[in-house]
Parts: sequence; C-alpha cells; structure tokens
Amino acid sequence: MHMRIGGKDTGSADDRWMGVINPATGEEIDRVPEGTLYEVDDAVRAAEEAFPAWAARTARERGLVLLRAASLVRERHHDFARLLTSEQGKPLRESTDEIRGFANVLEYYAEISGTLRGEFISLGQAGSAIVTHEPLGVCGAIIPWNMPALLMAWKVAPALLAGNTVVFKPASRTPLTSGSLTRIMEEAGLPPGALNIVTGRGEVVGEAIVRHPGISKVSFTGDVETGARVRELASGSFKEVTLELGGSDPMIVWKDADIDSAVAGALRGRFYNAGQTCTAVKRLFVHQAIGAEFLKRLKARVEGLRIGNGLDPGVDMGPLCGETQRDTIAALVEDLKLKGQGRVVTGGEPLRGLPFDRGFFYAPTLVTDVHPGSPLLQREVFGPVLPVMCVPDLNTAIMHANETRYGLGASVWTRDIEVAREVFSRVQAGIVWVNRHLTLPPEVPFGGVKSSGIGRENGSRALYSYTREKTLSISH
Ligand code: NAD
Repeated sequence: MHMRIGGKDTGSADDRWMGVINPATGEEIDRVPEGTLYEVDDAVRAAEEAFPAWAARTARERGLVLLRAASLVRERHHDFARLLTSEQGKPLRESTDEIRGFANVLEYYAEISGTLRGEFISLGQAGSAIVTHEPLGVCGAIIPWNMPALLMAWKVAPALLAGNTVVFKPASRTPLTSGSLTRIMEEAGLPPGALNIVTGRGEVVGEAIVRHPGISKVSFTGDVETGARVRELASGSFKEVTLELGGSDPMIVWKDADIDSAVAGALRGRFYNAGQTCTAVKRLFVHQAIGAEFLKRLKARVEGLRIGNGLDPGVDMGPLCGETQRDTIAALVEDLKLKGQGRVVTGGEPLRGLPFDRGFFYAPTLVTDVHPGSPLLQREVFGPVLPVMCVPDLNTAIMHANETRYGLGASVWTRDIEVAREVFSRVQAGIVWVNRHLTLPPEVPFGGVKSSGIGRENGSRALYSYTREKTLSISH
C-alpha cells in the first residue's frame, strides 16, 4: 500500500519499503513506503494548499463529509475489521467494535458541528467584542499500533471538523487500516490534501512532523518517553501539543462488590486487545474479605479464554502485536519468578506448539502476592498479565492505586456510593469508572494526569482544542 499525499498514492524518495506482519502468523501481508523528510514536506505542502478552501466551508458542510465517511465505513465494516485483525492481531469481534467506534466518533463530531461558534461580548458604552474560533491550519497527528482506527478518529475528526487539514502518521506496524480509512474519507468527499498519510519510522517521519514549521499543533498518542521527546521538540517551534500517553490503571474491588460482574470487568479490562490498551486494568486491588473467592472465579474465566488467530471465529484473545511486545512481557514475568517477587496463578509463559509457533502469543496470566517494588507494578505492562493484590482497607487500596507515575483511568467496583465518591476524589486519574472499566464513548472527555499526558480528546472541548480564539473589538 502507498502513502496518500494530496489525494495521490505516493512512494518514498529513496524507494524503501517496510513489511507489515500479521502477528498471528508472522507472515508479511503487505508493504508500505518508508517515508522520509521529503514526504513529510510534500504532505505539509498539500495540506497547506487544501487548507483555505476546507476552512472556508461551514462546520456543518465539513460535518456532512464526516457523516458520509461514517456511513461508508459502516457499510464496509467487515472488510475493515478483517484488515485490522490481519495487521494488529485482535479478534475480529474487537476489530468490528473498533471500526464501528471510528464511525461513532465521526458521527459524534458531525452531530455537534452546529455548536462550533463564537461569542458576542457587550462592552457597554465602549462598544463590543466578537470572539471567533479559527482553525489552526495544518495539524500533525501521530498514533501507536494498538488502536489504529479509533485513535485516528479521535484526532482526525475534531481537527477536520474545526476546519484544519491534517498530516497523519500511523504506527509502522499498523499502517493499513489507517490508509484504507483515509481513502474512504476521500471517497466520501474529503478534498485531496485535507488528510495526508505518511508512513515510516517514528524517529524520521514522526520527528519531522513534530519539528515542521508548517504544522501548528501536534496531537500525539504513544509511550511516555516518546511523548516527552515530542513535547521537547514541539516547544522549539511554539506548537500546541496534546499528549495521550501510557497508563497503569488500578481497579479496586470493594468487599460489597458483585463478584461476578467485577470478574467479568477484570477479564475484559485486562485481556481485551491482549492487554494492549492504554486504559487496560493493569493493577487490581481486591478487599481481602473476598480476595480468595474473587481470584478463584477470575482464574476459571481466564483459563476459559480461547486464544488463537483473531480471524478464526470464537477466538477471545489474539497474539501480541509484535515479537518485541511478546518478549518484553515474557522477560517481566521471568524476572518476577526468578526474584521470587510474586506467585503465578495461571499462565506465565509464551504459548508454544501449533497454532502458536509462528505468531507472538503469550498466555493470559494472573499473578498475586506481588512485591511492591516489582517492575510489574512500577511499569506500564502492555500485555495480558494481571497482578491481583489483596488489601485490608480502602486507604491502602487508594495509596497503592496512586503509587505510579501514571494517571490515566481507574475503576472501583462497589455498591456503596461513599466508597465510590472516596475513590473518585482521591485517586489521581483522568477518568474514574464505577462498576465498569474501559468504556470511552466519544462524548466523554478523555486524557491523563501526571505522566499520562496533557490535554483531552473526545467531547466538545476537544473540538475547540483544534481552534484558536480571535477577537474583533469594535468601538461604537
Ligand atoms: P510509541 O511512542 O513507540 O509510538 C507511538 C507513535 O509515535 C508511533 O507512530 C511511532 O512511530 C511514533 N514515534 C516514535 N518515535 C517518535 C519520535 N521520536 N517522534 C515522533 N513520533 C515518534 O508508542 P507505542 O509503543 O507504539 O504505543 C504504546 C503506547 O501508547 C503505550 O504506552 C500506550 O499506553 C500508549 N497509548 C496511549 C493512549 C491514550 O489515549 N492515552 C492510547 C493508546 C496507546
């Protein structure tokens, strides 16, 4: 597949290509150009040329393009879901959810297009002022490989609706779904150059986007370390940045919780997308009064998960997206075992034998009695390993929940409103769920505190984050 710049298929200046691997089989399923600074320059130029005409349309007209794209995506969601599973590995059911999620986000922003408006301020005898919300110009968007469709929508939909044009970089592992979605948006009426997709390596294409003087804002999703680099580079050219970074979400299960529903929440919260979700449940604290029963029921559910190629019907969990991811997870668990820093309840190893041999599979894993200093609790574990710790009281649970540099999401499972209120007010996170985890509809603002990021995506205010205020002051 080619890049898409100014509505045209493009290769890279030095004609280098990168393979896209199906993580379930290890097979190369396609190749994309390994972009260079030249393609980033071309993409910015194409976006600059497309900008005046796109910005001159009304927000409602732009919203109608998003709406048409959403409808085309819904019609062809089977094809998109298969493509997403082939390059990312998640089960077809999850890919279908994600593709529908893409359409949902476009529809949401199309629906609120009429709310994008300015303000009139009376200054009495001194006259009046009118504040407008102008688009920023060309925006850069950079995303990781875990949710290539949904994260694309979170950035591209509000940016385009606000009247900007976009230079977009998908992760090297998962460029195909984003590329196809870019084409369908053009088919829906998005003018050439309004959305340009440049494939390539982060240190080359990503950095060139962040440094480019023609780009006014960069919206980045990825790892904390990369986010810090992006922020540093962007400050050199006074760009605005939104950073959606890693998380190590705690889930607190209180003693009065409905155990089965908490078990189902933990199962989905941790093992959805093979644990490769920024807001996955990454540490679980359960009240000691129900700890043993909770762990027994969760273990039974985890052992019942069907692992395999996401394209096969009935699969609950696919492979990890890459070999490095699988090996990182394996090394973390081996380290825990070697140092005696915890006890493996189930799993704890890469899956071997057919059909797993050629893919990057790791067994869904539960560990308990984890030492507080273990990297499993300190780092963001981006894979299917869940540490479950028993706690004696709410203070201890909240204290542990906050013992991390991250602050993305958190959940509490309880029937007691006071417990929920206490967790909401004291846990450091951008979103606190009660009796659910992972739910992120487009109307709800989302983002982190501490090292988990800066700014918010989704919701109406994210639309305004792609605009700048301009004031007209009039004397009477
Ligand atoms: P990553 O930071 O390695 O890569 C993310 C993107 O940045 C990729 O497109 C990559 O090519 C690009 N990139 C790499 N180096 C760059 C540089 N120097 N300058 C500019 N761009 C560069 O992250 P990853 O490993 O692909 O993704 C996993 C991370 O993403 C996890 O930490 C996860 O929690 C996080 N994430 C966060 C959210 C959120 O909304 N908060 C959502 C999904 C994933």
